[in-house]
Amino acid sequence: MKDAGMNIVRYGRMLYEKGLTNGTGGNISARVGDVMLITPSGSCKGMLDSTELVTVDIASGKALSGRPSMETPFHLAAYRNREDVNGVVHVHPRFCTTLACARIDVMPGLTPEGVMVLGKRVPTIPYATPGSNDLAEALGKEVVHADAFLLQSHGAIALGSDLKEAFHRLETLEFHAELQYHLMVLGKGDRLPEAEIRRILKE
Ligand SMILES: [Zn+2]
Repeated sequence: MKDAGMNIVRYGRMLYEKGLTNGTGGNISARVGDVMLITPSGSCKGMLDSTELVTVDIASGKALSGRPSMETPFHLAAYRNREDVNGVVHVHPRFCTTLACARIDVMPGLTPEGVMVLGKRVPTIPYATPGSNDLAEALGKEVVHADAFLLQSHGAIALGSDLKEAFHRLETLEFHAELQYHLMVLGKGDRLPEAEIRRILKE
C-alpha cells in the first residue's frame, strides 16, 4: 500500500511538471488487492501528500477514509471490468482536450509508437457529467476494447497493468493528439497502411 501511495505522488508530480494537468484537474488511482488508492477530491497533482490519499473498496465503492476524487465511479468501472488493470490516470492535457472538445478522435496509427502503446483505436467516450454514474457506465462499456480514451468535451484517460504503464500511455496519447493537431494545421499526414499496423501488432 505504501509503494502504491508513493507511486501516485511521484506520477502526480510528473504529470503536473510536464504540463499534462493543471489546477486541481485530474485524478490518479492504483489497485492494491481488493481496494484502490485514489487522489483526494480537489487536490493539485503536483503537490500530493501520500497521507491524504483515499482508500476505496472496489466491490462496494465505499471510501474507507477521507473524501475521494469525484471521478471515483469511473476508476471503479475500470477496475471492475478489467482484471489486468492496476493503474488509472485521468487528466485534461491541452491537445487531448482540444480534440475531445472538437469531437475529433485520436488516430494512434500515425506512428508505429502510437500503434504499439495505444493499440488500433482510442475510443471517445460520449459526454456525461463529471463524477456521474452515467460517465462511469459509458466508460465501462468501452473499457474492454482499449487502454486509452478521450472523454468528449472533457479530457483523457489511460489504463495500465501498473501506474507506470498508465502514465507512459497517457504521455504517448497526448503526444499523438499534439502530432495530429499539427498535421491538421499543415493539412498533411496519413495513418500507416492497415497491413503495416497489423504487422506491428503481430496480427
Ligand atoms: Zn476530469
